This record gives sequence, structure tokens and C-alpha cells, in this order.
Amino acid sequence: MASLLSILKNVINLNRVHVEKSEIVTVPERHFGEIYEEKRIYIWLRPIRRYQSRCPICGKKYHGYDYRSEEESWWRASNLNGIPVYLFYRRQRIECAEHGVHAEWIPWADGESRFTESFNNEVAWMALQMSKLAVSILMGINWRTVGNCIKAAHNRIEPDVSVRLHGLRRICVDETSYRKGHTYITVVYDMERNQVVWVHPDHGKEVFEAFCQLLSKEEQAAIEIVAGDGAKWIDNCTKEYFPNATRFGMVYLVLKLLFWNSFTAGYAPMMISVFFLGGLLLSFLGFLGEYVMAINIRVMNRPLVVEEERINFSLE
Ligand SMILES: [Zn+2]
Repeated sequence: MASLLSILKNVINLNRVHVEKSEIVTVPERHFGEIYEEKRIYIWLRPIRRYQSRCPICGKKYHGYDYRSEEESWWRASNLNGIPVYLFYRRQRIECAEHGVHAEWIPWADGESRFTESFNNEVAWMALQMSKLAVSILMGINWRTVGNCIKAAHNRIEPDVSVRLHGLRRICVDETSYRKGHTYITVVYDMERNQVVWVHPDHGKEVFEAFCQLLSKEEQAAIEIVAGDGAKWIDNCTKEYFPNATRFGMVYLVLKLLFWNSFTAGYAPMMISVFFLGGLLLSFLGFLGEYVMAINIRVMNRPLVVEEERINFSLE
């Protein structure tokens, strides 16, 4: 049977630590200008002896050097049934022979973030699903902190974003607007790996050129397909930087035909094709109508009328 403590440690993802003491406290907290009583769980802990005083970079064990501050620092862990959990620990500094003086490695921290790894993961995932404001209210953090949590999670999962630029063969370029449609960003997409490779504010030739210049000469030559709308700047850059690339203008149709299984056609191409086919049908229906009318006139075969005389018409 697992003890309640080990279940709790598991739930908030605290491994390799000793819990020294824990408390439930009530603190006044300001929300939207009003002061509420908020429950909090405080946990004082330390890494088990084997994981104490380790260099955060190489993981080697050293003797403690000094303490970072007089008081213990705190970290936010994932909520327990909506109640925020705070972890306290007086972090040591160590002097690594290779890397110099650093704050020691601790199992629950996520880099320099004041939040634990699972907390940052949670916030990053939620930010994909709902508004920033909703995330900040639900998790009980500042609106701006949401961005920092995402950054911490991103830095851990993908420290070097430029990895995405290597091995590109088929790319798709487009600009899109956000913030009520007044601000533009340019997005480059890898059609083989189905992921966004590069995003930059603004649009136009200079922006896409900046992307082209990030690639080495060999990488530029390896690009086979550049797809996008009919914009001139995509044409010009493709000619200039990607000598072996084919430029696709009728993006939706061609891409759908080439990558039938991997290319997801959204609403836009579907609506375009529906309206196009609808227009085609309606115009042929018009021809058909004209033809039926002509048949009708012939079939009725009305006698030809000739005016013999006009009465009460002026001469003019
Ligand atoms: Zn080290």
C-alpha cells in the first residue's frame, strides 16, 4: 500500500526528494481588485542525499560552496484540486571544476523558471487550447507569466529552433494576419514533416529573403518545391535563392494532388471548388435555357403577323 505522502509526491511529480514539512495556509490574494482568502499548500523539501550538490550542467557532485540567499527560494508546482502548491528549499551553490559557480541542480526545477517542469508543461499545453487570460485565471498566475512558462517549456523541449531549418525539401510560404488583421507575419512550413519551420513579423521580399539567407548554399540547392500564393516576392526569392526549386502557384490543387494523404485541405480550397463548380453548372444551365426557349418558339409555330394599318398613331 502506498502511503498518502508518496501518492501526493507522485501526483505533483516530486521524485528524488525528501519532504521535511508541509502546511496548508490561508493568504489574502487580490483578484480583479477584490481581496479573497486563498488556500495554499506549502511544502518544504530537499533533494535526497544522492542528488544534492550537483552541477546543473555536467551533473557531477561537489562540496557545497555557499548559499544563494539567506532565505529559502520558492517554486510553484501544479495545483492540487485547484489549490496552488508552493515548494520551498534553500538552494546551495556549488563550484564545479569545469563550469564554475552555479546554483546546484534540483530535481523539481525547470531551468531558471520559478515553476516546476510539469507546471510549465501544463501551461504551455493549455495556452494552445484556450486564451492566455483563461490560462492565467485557471492556474492562478499573472497574465505575463503565461508567456514565461511557455518559454521555459519550449527551451527545454527544443533548445535550438534552427534544427528545423536543416533538411528542408518542400516548403510552403504564406503571410497571415493577427491582432484584428492589422499585423502580418510570414510563416514558412515544411510540407514533408508537417511543421512550421520559421515565423517572422511583417511580410514581403525582405522578410522571405532573411529566411533564404539562413540556409546554407547546399540547403538552398536542396529545396525542390516552393509553394505559396501568387505573390511576386515569393517568385523573385525562389528564382534568386533556390535554383532547383519548382514554384507552385495553384497551391491547393497541386499540393492536394501531390501529397494526397499528408496535405489537409481546409475550408478555403473546399469553398473555392464548390463555388467554382456551382458557377460552371449555372452558366451551362443558362445555355440550356436559351436552347429550350428556341425549341419552344419553333414548336408553337405562331403565324407571322403583318400590320395592315395603324390607327390613332401619329406619323412620327
Ligand atoms: Zn559542471
